[in-house]
This record gives sequence, structure tokens and C-alpha cells, in this order.
Amino acid sequence: MAIDFSLTPEQEAIRKLAHEFADKEVKPRAQELDRLADATAIFPWDIYEKGNRLGFNKTLIPAKYGGLGLGEVETCLVVEELSWADGGIGSTYFVHNMQLLTLGESGSEEQKEKWFRACVNDPEERFFMSLPWTEHGVAGNLSPRDFAAGRANNGPILPAEWAMQSTVPQLEQREMTTVAVEDGDDWIINGTKRFITSAGRSKLMLTSARKGQASPDVGMGLFLIPADAPGVSYGHIEDKMGQRLMQNGEVIFQDCRVPKSDELKDYMTKPRVRGGDVEVAAVFNGIARRAYEEALAYARIRYKGGARIIFHQAVQMAICDMAIKILTSRLLMLKAAWENDQETGFNNYNGMAKIYSSDVAVSVTNQAMQVFGGYGYMRDFPMEKLYRDARLGPIYHATNEMIMVGQLVRWLASMDTIY
Ligand SMILES: Cc1cc2nc3c(=O)[nH]c(=O)nc-3n(C[C@H](O)[C@H](O)[C@H](O)COP(=O)(O)OP(=O)(O)OC[C@H]3O[C@@H](n4cnc5c(N)ncnc54)[C@H](O)[C@@H]3O)c2cc1C
Repeated sequence: MAIDFSLTPEQEAIRKLAHEFADKEVKPRAQELDRLADATAIFPWDIYEKGNRLGFNKTLIPAKYGGLGLGEVETCLVVEELSWADGGIGSTYFVHNMQLLTLGESGSEEQKEKWFRACVNDPEERFFMSLPWTEHGVAGNLSPRDFAAGRANNGPILPAEWAMQSTVPQLEQREMTTVAVEDGDDWIINGTKRFITSAGRSKLMLTSARKGQASPDVGMGLFLIPADAPGVSYGHIEDKMGQRLMQNGEVIFQDCRVPKSDELKDYMTKPRVRGGDVEVAAVFNGIARRAYEEALAYARIRYKGGARIIFHQAVQMAICDMAIKILTSRLLMLKAAWENDQETGFNNYNGMAKIYSSDVAVSVTNQAMQVFGGYGYMRDFPMEKLYRDARLGPIYHATNEMIMVGQLVRWLASMDTIY
């Protein structure tokens, strides 16, 4: 009996713990918090502190550093349940967890001892990590914000330019403008990152920067930078369409001095074993399942056309179609998470699960909104928030297109068939 699809009693216990927390502490408040107009005032520390007290920010920290020592399967179950109540809360945990994985795989023993223990022993229970990586764009290019303000227009693309600019995702790393310059035993970091999850809220950042000012070919480094380090400041906080219970904003590094001992030296050379992408799948499976449950419950009570709408065939087909998508998406998530926990090497099911679950969540929330009819569009019903929260999936972490062209197609091209 090689295949067993059931959860262990321990996995079921942590899933249930996360669900009860999500149902009691997050769900009743998520809609009201989502509506707050001031995006800088939403981040619900009290919810996060309670979740952290239950260990939700420590699942991936090995037991020898005082963490829960759980795997990706268990962590995905937690993130999925939290996201069932609110996608933004789930995403905050996903981003934090992904950095724990990177630190675990590429960090030195001293770095792990210091920062895993800092998370476990944080008296405030406010230890989150973030990943400042994305930037505004290449210096000299037109800025997206200028575009939004109607100031930028690059004109049509000429045939010669079209021929020159093929899609080469590897080049993006060379476009990084945040730079780390050597100075004795330190690196001095300058640059601005944008859209960063938990910017101004996290306690530790795993920051990427291009090493050396002169050439884009010198390579990239990943640096551990405490959020309150001299030279770190925070800029614009984004006013987002959805997932408003996580905070996203600019992180600015101005002559920020980082000891060389705080670089993750193995990051660029040691192959990754586990991928955090699978936790994005957990976020969007949680959102999709909630939308399904809301649509099913509504279809059972709404009376129209001589019957409750669950008796209408079109609604029945929508319910079945949603269920099939969610179940297949969750199976792919569990497969990717299980592969991660076997530590057999980085597996591309992570990227597939991210892409599939985010597309499923967009599609399912759309169908669920349709089941609600006009009420689906009203803000005092749950669907419009779920729809907004779902739409982030294909965009963040890396767009689904970027994962396909940058990662998946190389893997697929190396095989004759898929399994
Ligand atoms: C809510 C939110 C949270 C985020 N959190 C973080 C975070 O914590 N840390 C962090 O570093 N970043 C974060 N990001 C940034 C996120 O990873 C990027 O927005 C995403 O990777 C897309 O990059 P971009 O916004 O620059 O879009 P662009 O790169 O400008 O993409 C625009 C379009 O072009 C396409 N495209 C771009 N390049 C290619 C290519 N090479 N091949 C094919 N198509 C391409 C894209 O698919 C997309 O359709 C977050 C973003 C959001 C919205």
C-alpha cells in the first residue's frame, strides 16, 4: 500500500486547531477590517499575536531551535485554514514561512541559532520575516506610477526593438538596482524595494541585492537585515484591491551597513530542496473552498423560479465544477508539499500548484459570485471580498506567466512526458 491519501492524527489535529482559530478569531472580523479606508491602519496585530502564540509562525522551525518542527504538509494545512477565513492573513504567514525555509536551507548554523531562536523567544509574538526583492523597475525606464498619473507614454514598439527584445526571464536578475558594495567586513546596501509583504511590520528581512556596483554580472546576494537596522526606512504603503489584512509597502535601504556574516552565503550556490510556492497554493485553496461553501449554503436557501436554486441544473453544475477544481488543486498542493518534505530535491510541483490553485481560486470565486446573483456583487455579502482576495494569486510571488517561462518549461522540455 504505497499511496495513502489520509492525514495523520497529528496533521488533522493542527488543521483543526488552525480552522477553529480562523473561524473564531479571524472570520468574524475580516470583512470589517478589509473595509477600513486607511491601508496603514489595518494590520491586525492582536490576531497575528494570538496565531503566533498557537505556533503558526513556528511550524517550520526545527524542534532543536525550539520550533514545532513540522513539515510543509502541516504548514500548508495551517495556511489553508487561515486563508479560508482571510487570504491576507494566510499570505502574511506564507511569506514568513518561505523565508524560514530559505534560512533553514541556506543559513549558517550561527544564523539559524540566532534568528530561529529570535522567532521562538519573541516575547511580543510579533516575529515575522519578509522578502524585499521586487523593485520599481530598471533605472531610466518609465515608472508605472508615472503611467498611472498619465505622465508616461513610450509610444508604439518599432519592429527593430521587437526583434531585439525576446523574453529572457534570467535577465531580470541583472536588472536589479539595489546594490551591495564591499567595505571591509561589511556590505553597504543602497536601493528601494516595493510591494513588500509585511514591510514595516516584520522583524527580519531577507533582502536581495546585486553585489558590486560596476557590472550587472557580478551576481546577487541575499542578506539578513533586521527591520530596525540603521539605514532602513519604509515608504509608500500600498492601498490594495484585496488581501488587505496583510501590509505591503516600500523598503528603502540608504547606506545600510550589513556585516558580511549576515549574508546567506550558500543561497546562490546550494540547490534549493524545498519550495515555498506550495504555500501560495494553500492560500488560494483556502479562499476557493470558502467561496464554494458560501455558494453551496446560499444555493440551499435562495428560492427562485419555483424552487430553491440548488434544484436548478445550471447551479448544480456550477457547484460540481467548483468542487472538482478545488479537490484537484488541493491534491496537487499536497503532492508538492509531500515531495518537499521528502527532501528529494527541488520539485516543480510547487510552481504548478501555485499556478493551478491561483487560477482555480479566480475561477471558483467568479462562479460562486454568479450563484449569489445580484447579492454576490453587494459588499455586505461575502463574495465580493473573496473575489478580490482571489485575484492576487496569478500576480504575486511571481506572475503565473513568469513561473511558466522562467521555471516550468525548462523542466518539461527535459522530459518526454509528464509522469
Ligand atoms: C500584494 C503583493 C504582495 C507582494 N509581496 C512581495 C514580497 O513580499 N516581496 C517581493 O519581493 N515582491 C512582492 N510582490 C511583488 C510581486 O512578486 C510582483 O508584483 C510580481 O512578481 C510581478 O512583478 P511586477 O509587478 O514587476 O510585474 P511586471 O514584471 O511588470 O509584469 C507585468 C506583466 O508582464 C509579464 N512579464 C514580465 N516579465 C515577463 C517575462 N520575463 N516573461 C513573460 N512575461 C513576463 C507578467 O507576467 C505580467 O503580466 C508582491 C506583489 C503584490 C501585488
